[in-house]
Amino acid sequence: MVRVRFAPSPTGPLHIGGARSALFNYLLAKKENGVFIVRSEDTDLERSSRESEQNILEALRWLNIQWDEGIEAGGENGPYRQTERLDIYKKYTDKLLANGHAYYCYCSEEELEEERQKLIAQGETPRYLGKCRNLTEEQRKEFESKGRKPVVRFRVPEGEKVHIPDRVRGDVVFDSDGIGDFIIVKSDGIPTYNFAVVIDDVTMGITHVIRGEEHLSNTPRQVLLYQALELPIPEFAHISLILNTEGRKMSKRDGDTAVIDYQKKGYLPEAVVNFIALMGWSPGGEEEFFTLEEMIEEFSLDRVSKSPAVFDLNKLNHIDAHYIKEADPERLTDLAIPYLEEAGVLTKGEISSEERAWVTHYVQAIINHLDCMAQVKDFVHY
Ligand code: GLU
Repeated sequence: MVRVRFAPSPTGPLHIGGARSALFNYLLAKKENGVFIVRSEDTDLERSSRESEQNILEALRWLNIQWDEGIEAGGENGPYRQTERLDIYKKYTDKLLANGHAYYCYCSEEELEEERQKLIAQGETPRYLGKCRNLTEEQRKEFESKGRKPVVRFRVPEGEKVHIPDRVRGDVVFDSDGIGDFIIVKSDGIPTYNFAVVIDDVTMGITHVIRGEEHLSNTPRQVLLYQALELPIPEFAHISLILNTEGRKMSKRDGDTAVIDYQKKGYLPEAVVNFIALMGWSPGGEEEFFTLEEMIEEFSLDRVSKSPAVFDLNKLNHIDAHYIKEADPERLTDLAIPYLEEAGVLTKGEISSEERAWVTHYVQAIINHLDCMAQVKDFVHY
């Protein structure tokens, strides 16, 4: 059975790119009668917050992307926040330490920095060269007696080609020699992303990992962990970066990147979700308007493109304008009222039934000019 997940780090609002990952996972799960899980990667203790987690969940709900298992939904594979799963990671860490795939490293920040600078000066990729790979018990005790707290590193095998089965990019191959023994557990006992994500995916029975292209370079580390633990490797699908219309990576300067910004401007969720789906996925054919049900029906990873997706606000406006024209007048009235209150046309909380009827009438009169509901304020002077 298909089991997929969306695993945001709750360090800020849900961005368009994150929403797209969530959506593609959701669509695949629904299409294949599988399970869609939402969990939280909250190991960055300083930047994570429950507030961000709530905001992300709210944004998913607004888009009507529902999950079957995970935070708030519950399920058999919980808990669904990484900070609540430390004992699970510990079990796997102990296993890797016992079979020699991992080891304790006592190198200090200064020593690591020195090694880094040396490699850079020699024109090599900075990486850990394995100084603590073969410490004796005595050497370890000596470090411990000096109060040094170790990290746990994964022993990367030498001279290996690491194959990543990727549904979007094909078979991607990395050379293990460029990787360097990486940290799997920090000195405070908190696992790193590459380790925790593998253990979560394994213990939750994840079959397909659909996420942003920015994680492709992490994936060889994850594949090596699967191999060391002798666990089945899921299929990956790394979806392309989202670029602005000038071909640069989409950033705040290109407009709003958080889903909630579009909610605030009165875009309709069915338009936003339709627009997001088309950034990287194309169903074939000319049709550009899809309900969630239609997307589920049509969705396939084979039609997810490997070329960059483009964020084109004009296209979103075009899609939203279409859904506004189709929407129920009463719903549009409800959406319009707060903007008209804000503009001082209506008095907050004191709307009579005549005024409401006027708003309905007014919205219908200007409907062909609206790209999003916030624009209702722009026409009141007529
Ligand atoms: N927490 C990661 C992110 O928000 C998710 C990585 C993954 O899906 O493996 O980008």
